[in-house]
Amino acid sequence: MKYISTRGQAPALNFEDVVLTGLATDGGLYVPETLPEFSQEEIASWAGLSYEALALKIISPFVEGEIPEADLKRLIAASYKTSADKGFRHEAIAPLVQTGHNEWVLELFQGPTLAFKDFALQFLGHLLDYVLKKRDQKVVIMGATSGDTGSAAIEGCRDCENVDIFILHPYQKVSDVQRRQMTTVLEDNVHNIALQGNFDDCQNMVKASFADQSFLPEGRQLVAVNSINWARIMAQIVYYFYAGLALGAPHRPVSFSVPTGNFGDIFAGYLAKRMGLPIEQLVIATNSNDILHRCISENDHSKQALVHSLSPSMDIMVSSNFERMLFDLHGRDGNKIGALMETFKSEGSMVLDDAVLAEARALFSSYRVGDDETVDVIRSVFESTEYLLDPHTAIGVQAARQTRRNNSTPMVCLATAHPAKFPEAVKQAGQTSDPALPFHMQDLFTREERYQVIADDLSQVQLFIRENISG
Ligand SMILES: *Cc1c(COP(=O)(O)O)cnc(C)c1O
Repeated sequence: MKYISTRGQAPALNFEDVVLTGLATDGGLYVPETLPEFSQEEIASWAGLSYEALALKIISPFVEGEIPEADLKRLIAASYKTSADKGFRHEAIAPLVQTGHNEWVLELFQGPTLAFKDFALQFLGHLLDYVLKKRDQKVVIMGATSGDTGSAAIEGCRDCENVDIFILHPYQKVSDVQRRQMTTVLEDNVHNIALQGNFDDCQNMVKASFADQSFLPEGRQLVAVNSINWARIMAQIVYYFYAGLALGAPHRPVSFSVPTGNFGDIFAGYLAKRMGLPIEQLVIATNSNDILHRCISENDHSKQALVHSLSPSMDIMVSSNFERMLFDLHGRDGNKIGALMETFKSEGSMVLDDAVLAEARALFSSYRVGDDETVDVIRSVFESTEYLLDPHTAIGVQAARQTRRNNSTPMVCLATAHPAKFPEAVKQAGQTSDPALPFHMQDLFTREERYQVIADDLSQVQLFIRENISG
């Protein structure tokens, strides 16, 4: 399978090279040249498969000709193993829980760091290890995090022999749980940098380093682990099929509501639909950082000031993966996307053509949920079911309830994080004590931490990286 850039100017790459690349050289994002499509009979024949067996069916066509099936099977088994202290804590990997009439929550927080990002990053870690060993190559991962991505990436890569991972977080600006999930991983190849700045400063540091990698030792390159990495999107397609099959697809349709930030997760849902899963409604659920909701509802895709919300993992001004969606909505015309993104960069806004907007509206519903409403939903769902939602998931549930068109179609709300990760919102919803951390993390606050505080200065950060890269 070949992968092409959304801006049409960069060379096409094969799967393994795409995994080792960040942005394409033309500034675009890589997408598969063609999408595999499965027939309804074939999808029906997957009913009852384990998560791992289903993942093998869905991922195989994307890596065809590069990763032999037996190897892929091993990578998947290692990524989605169940265990009480490492790996996933539930035999179903992605279990469904009913929260209302024909309304379900898909628990994507059973992985090691309690957020859905484990689904992609556990797999990416094993995949990188495999590809790099095959090539006898070493790489450096550099990433910025405001919370969930960093810990999931560190957890995914802690055992990778050919990877040094450097994660920057804004000093004293992530929650204690989130920081400790990163800084208590003490493997030699794991390095946490607490940057004396905010999240944007961290991101700028990473961007500048990707743009000019001459600070790295000879033979090393940077690899991106944010959701511009295609392998992350690919791994997320699987759970849409898994939930759909459990609820009767392909014999009947299902709908999904997705708490959305960078548009990676819901883009995987859109791909699942194109690959043959009968998805009736796909709901983009946003918090007050609502650029996508404004885009779908009012054709207003303009940058606005960042709002710090109770759902911090969705606090983004611009959703980077939306470019992949725009590429499809514009007939996969890379020149058009290049021009559109240039306009957006210079003007801070873009307007979609009527036909494009109409197609986007046919594909997606959208809804915005502010902090007060988020807290109300956590409270009311707890009162009616004794089930505790995290604030991100609550936004998805509320958006589903507000936009749902057909009560006879199962509605699946993606539960993207465990409530114990976000005690502040839970407390505001009237819970008197913090939700308990799962058993394997109960000693989190007594574990040893290791991190380096560094000034907001590119040369100091790069010096630290150079000095700490393994030989
Ligand atoms: C990352 C994240 C999201 C947003 O996912 P995107 O793929 O960026 O849209 C939502 N909820 C939680 C808990 C997250 O960690």
